[in-house]
This record gives sequence, C-alpha cells and structure tokens, in this order.
Amino acid sequence: MAVQQRFGKGHRVLVSGGAGFVPSHVVDALIARGCTVVAVDNFVTGARDNVAHLADEPRFTLVEADLAAGLPTDPALAGRFDAIMHMASPASPTDFAKLPVEILKVGSLGTLALLDRAVADSARFLMASTSEAYGDPAVHPQPESYWGNVNPIGVRSVYDEAKRFSEAATMGYHRFHGLDTAIVRIFNTYGPRMRPDDGRAIPTFISQALADLPITVQGTGTQTRSITYVDDLVRGILLLLDSTETGPINCGTEHELSMLQLAELIVKLAGSASEITLVERASDDPEKRRPDLTLARTLLGYEPEVGPEEGLRRTIDFFAR
Ligand code: NAD
Ligand code: UDP
Repeated sequence: MAVQQRFGKGHRVLVSGGAGFVPSHVVDALIARGCTVVAVDNFVTGARDNVAHLADEPRFTLVEADLAAGLPTDPALAGRFDAIMHMASPASPTDFAKLPVEILKVGSLGTLALLDRAVADSARFLMASTSEAYGDPAVHPQPESYWGNVNPIGVRSVYDEAKRFSEAATMGYHRFHGLDTAIVRIFNTYGPRMRPDDGRAIPTFISQALADLPITVQGTGTQTRSITYVDDLVRGILLLLDSTETGPINCGTEHELSMLQLAELIVKLAGSASEITLVERASDDPEKRRPDLTLARTLLGYEPEVGPEEGLRRTIDFFAR
C-alpha cells in the first residue's frame, strides 16, 4: 500500500527534541521536502551542533525551551502548525538514573502541552514511543497487540511508564477530542550524531573499538536487540506521519543480534585490536527484542534497507572523524 505525501512545501511542522540524534535527522528530512520546521529543545541530551548545518536555512528555527514548562511565548511558535512531532526525551538507559524527573516530566507535562497545542491547531500529532513499552517481553517478536511486561517501579520505569503514559494521553486526546494522532514504537536505532558517551551499546562499543579499549559487554552478552540505521527509521516515521494511521506501529528491523555478536561485528568493521570483556549487567535489562513489522509493511509499505554491516560502517566512519 502506497502512502501519499501529506506534509511538504508550505506546511509547518513542530519537532520537539529537534536537536537530538533521531529528531535532527527527521528535521533534515522535513526540510528536504520543503516543510518549514520549528525545533524546540533544551539540550539536556541534544546539541546545537546537530542542527548547525541549518543555521542559514530560512525554513528552520531552533527555540530553546524546556517542554516540562509547556511551550514558551516565542515568535517562532506563533501561527498554526500542520503537524506536531513529539520526539523530546532522554532515551539512553544511563539517563534513566541521571535524569529520572526530567524524563517523567517531558513524557507527561511535555506530552500534554503538545497535545493541547495540536488540538488548538488541528494539527496531526505524532508521538515517538518506544519498544520499551513492551518492557522485558514475554512474547517474541513483539506485535503491537502485545501489552508488554514492564516493572512499574524498576530502574527503567521512569522512561517506560512515561512513554506508556504518553501513548495513553495520545489515545485519550484522539478519542475525546477527535485529534488526528499517530504513535510510532521505535526499536533500537543508531547512526551519525549519537553521542559517543551516551551509554548505549552501539556508541559505547564503537568508541571503545576505535580506541582499542576493552569492549564492555554486559552479562553473558546473549541478550539481543534488533538494530535500525537512522535513515530507515526516519523513512518509517515520515510514512506514518503522511498516513492517516493512528497506530501504534512498530518501526525498526529484524536484524536481531546478541550483544556479543554486535561487539564482535564492531571490532571487525573498525579493524580494532579491542578484546571483549564481560561486565555487570544492568537490572531489568530486556532479554530479547525484535519488532513484528507486519503493520508497518502492510499499512505503510515500510521496508528497512540498510543492513547492520553497512549501517555500522557508516556510524564508525562518523565516530572516527
Ligand atoms: P536524544 O536524546 O538524542 O534526543 C532527544 C532530544 O530531546 C534531545 O535533543 C534533548 O535535548 C531533547 N529534550 C529532552 N527533554 C527535553 C525537554 N524537557 N524539553 C525540550 N527538549 C528536550 O535521543 P534519541 O535517541 O534521538 O531519541 C529521540 C526520541 O526517540 C526520544 O523520544 C526517544 O524516546 C525515542 N526513541 C529513540 C530510540 C533510539 O533507539 N534512539 C528508541 C526508542 C525511542
Ligand atoms: N550493553 C552492553 N554494554 C554497554 C552498554 C549496553 O552490553 O556498554 C547492553 C545492555 O545490557 C543491553 C544492550 O546492550 O542488553 C542494549 O543496550 P542499549 O543501552 O544500547 O539499549 P536498550 O537497553 O535501551 O535497548
């Protein structure tokens, strides 16, 4: 099924968290289509550098603000938005311990503020949710119909439950206000503009490999993730934005690797002399994760294109610069 482009030249899109890793690539794709984009970010985990290349782009504005306090009064935020994409949130498991309150606030107060704005503007609202909504899944691969297995008081719960709240809020506004909404459940995504020190496996392993340092695989390394190169994810997100689907719809790949396999692949691709060392495993770490992509394929015509070797090679090149 082919999705027709709905948002392009002449449309205004607000991207929350627009200076972050994934959202900055979404901003680039929207600008390339001819949209006018306003990014709102407080740089808690993002960076101005991620959108520095758009400094002279008249269709792009970056507003510094903490969404936990709602949208600020700013000339760039006046006027109607055609679409609002809520992508702001710290997302690395190391942030869950460092920024628990910030995560809860942006996922609750931030989500409600943007939903209210979407109602006021009659905008399409897209919520960037996560595979963490499934917690440590008892069903594999994970279809959207699976309700998940989340420890509500565990170390990851500030993120998992904030995203589950965001999903509930999005569906509440959809049902009560008739708001045009979409929820995407994003699976582990990697690529250029990730922070080398953000604590997630791929940037950590690449940074270690490039420095010939030991690769810190947690536990036995048999836990799996299915990894998605950022360009594939961005294409999937924009297909969902253009569609009239409400979701939730999974977006990712079926390239499921154990963390040991991932570490070995990165060492090989980086031509590194690093050895693998097993370190303590974080608690509540999901054992396995792979999306069921049936809905993305049948409803959106989504198909990932970049394999792990190619995507990791591009990411290693970015980190080596
Ligand atoms: P990121 O940290 O690079 O991007 C998030 C951005 O949100 C940052 O620029 C940060 O400064 C901004 N932000 C956070 N709190 C804010 C606040 N209160 N006000 C304004 N801005 C705020 O992370 P990412 O990996 O690019 O993730 C982007 C989105 O995608 C997040 O919502 C995340 O939960 C979701 N997601 C990402 C992945 C992944 O694998 N990268 C997986 C699942 C879901
Ligand atoms: N991981 C690891 N070493 C690290 C960082 C992470 O072995 O230095 C493991 C972690 O235990 C988890 C997997 O890699 O099983 C993916 O972790 P990541 O933080 O990248 O993403 P998430 O847990 O959110 O899927």
